[in-house]
Amino acid sequence: MAKYQINFSCGHDEQRELFGATKERQRKIEYFEQYGDCSACFKKRKESEREAEGPVVQVRARKGDPALIEFVVFNSFSVKDALKARGYRFSYDFVRVGSAFGLNDRGEGAWGRRFEGGPETISEQVADEIKWLKSKDWKFEDATSSVKSLISALIEGKADYIPAS
Ligand SMILES: [Zn+2]
Repeated sequence: MAKYQINFSCGHDEQRELFGATKERQRKIEYFEQYGDCSACFKKRKESEREAEGPVVQVRARKGDPALIEFVVFNSFSVKDALKARGYRFSYDFVRVGSAFGLNDRGEGAWGRRFEGGPETISEQVADEIKWLKSKDWKFEDATSSVKSLISALIEGKADYIPAS
């Protein structure tokens, strides 16, 4: 491993530590020079992409007694009043999972609403909430891979379909 001063395609110089065979490092340097952004420009670009993206809904779910479904809306400053009116609470504790942006999203505040109870009890509320969220034309991101089947299980009231988390 060694440190290299690299001139990124954005025009800024930045030091990077590179690993691997010399040939591989050389390839990385060439890539950074042609296509790469320095870390400040990378961050700026991701932030503006996110700004343009609008609110992003993530769904977390947990099987059990009580079962838990939580809707978390990130990037939601512009719609916070609507969320608040619907009973969402603001917190910095939500961690965006599987972000398409590769950012560490700790520290980003979000609005969340949580439903707890037996599948039959909460299925109607959850279905209603999904309907409302879907009417908003916001982007949905699955926070857990089993979420889709879990939600359909809850909506259809088929507790047997709920996968183990
Ligand atoms: Zn730069």
